[in-house]
Amino acid sequence: LGKNLTKTMKKLAGMSIVDEEVVKEVIKEIQRALIQSDVNIKLVFKLSKSIEERALKEEPPKGITPKEHIITIVYEEMVKLLGEKAHEVEIDQKPYKILFLGLQGSGKTTTIGKLTRYLQKKGFHPAIVCTDTWRPAAFEQLKQLTQEMNVPLYGDPENKDALDLAKKGLKQFKKHDIVIFDTAGRHKDEKDLLQEMEEISSVVDPTEAILVIDGTIGQQAKDQARAFSQATPVGSIIVTKLDGSAKGGGALSAVSEIGAPIKFIGTGERVDDFEIFDPERFISRLLGMGDIKTLMEKAEEVAEEEKVAETMDAMLSGKFTLKDMYTQFEMMGKMGPMQQVMNMMPGVGKLPKNASQITEEKIGKYKIIMSSMTHYEMEHPEVIKQSRIKRIARGSGMRNEDIKELLKYYNVTKKAMKGFGRRKMSGPMGQLMR
Ligand code: GDP
Ligand code: MG
Repeated sequence: LGKNLTKTMKKLAGMSIVDEEVVKEVIKEIQRALIQSDVNIKLVFKLSKSIEERALKEEPPKGITPKEHIITIVYEEMVKLLGEKAHEVEIDQKPYKILFLGLQGSGKTTTIGKLTRYLQKKGFHPAIVCTDTWRPAAFEQLKQLTQEMNVPLYGDPENKDALDLAKKGLKQFKKHDIVIFDTAGRHKDEKDLLQEMEEISSVVDPTEAILVIDGTIGQQAKDQARAFSQATPVGSIIVTKLDGSAKGGGALSAVSEIGAPIKFIGTGERVDDFEIFDPERFISRLLGMGDIKTLMEKAEEVAEEEKVAETMDAMLSGKFTLKDMYTQFEMMGKMGPMQQVMNMMPGVGKLPKNASQITEEKIGKYKIIMSSMTHYEMEHPEVIKQSRIKRIARGSGMRNEDIKELLKYYNVTKKAMKGFGRRKMSGPMGQLMR
């Protein structure tokens, strides 16, 4: 599936204008990838609609290819849903009270161990309160998790009153900079659980309530998020179990449901399997693409190869425009001077001196001049006469003579190219050209 999307993106990479059909194709692939990753259908459609609208309406900024433009739009729209930048926990008051919420098994207790370690590394001294009276060994689990970390822990396996435990814990640790409250994720029924969360929340008055979501649960994440956020305002989300094959798409639905950002992700059972949330990586994962940046680079290469082949074709068929010359300049930058490139072709002689001897400095200058030309002028250089020369000179900050020099260089090169084209190309290079 990720392969399909990558293929579509590559196809897009070779295009110089955004074509409605291709945009639709890209979006269809994105939709498929997202649905496979458990992202809510409504959300998928909302997302694809805004991507399509922007892709067709917005002109790619100068220097950005249509493919880069679409990938950027996809990325931006998804980041918008994910809540912009990932901010870490900012400890701005004392005690900073963190209330953990989430169903049993979602990974709350494990994640508390991870977050504690993380905060300790930042120089804080968190203390933990266990209010889980439902899991028989809840306190024991926390004790084991934290015993090597030297973290103060409050709990009482004999006490079955979660509210009382929260109150006592809070009192005991009120001088600490951070107090983290673990809660039960299970009850006789969901209503009781949410009621208890509401009550604990009013006792603790959390600075930040963190909802822990199991990254493997898919669509239920949305309902869980809504239910918990009704019990207490959720400030942020931690998605666990992203070490397996789960894509975490449910979490995206949760984020969009309650508007709280994802701050961290859990990537394993060990205390160090904990990462600051990285939207770009998360999105790449959702879309089933290796990673967006690599993809962009790959697509770039493909486009480059295609452009080179096209330019070679144009050069050899005698249809050599300024646009082709521009590409040729870029090729020179990558492969060395044209002379060298030409020398690699069997049966092809050397370029005439005046065409092959061009300095990097001149190429730079010519490129600046060409960027002041219109599309039409680049494709039909023969229309560039006195008045256009003046305009281009003004636009590029060059002298009229410079424009004339460029045109002369172009004409000489074009003529030389035509000469090559008439010769029969043989050998591997000849095949490459076809
Ligand atoms: P709680 O009931 O919400 O407190 O959940 P626990 O912290 O007890 O975790 C439930 C199970 O999920 C345990 O077996 C954990 O080891 C496991 N777990 C938690 N986080 C992760 C994670 O990021 N990756 C993996 N693979 N397992 C996790
Ligand atoms: Mg627990």
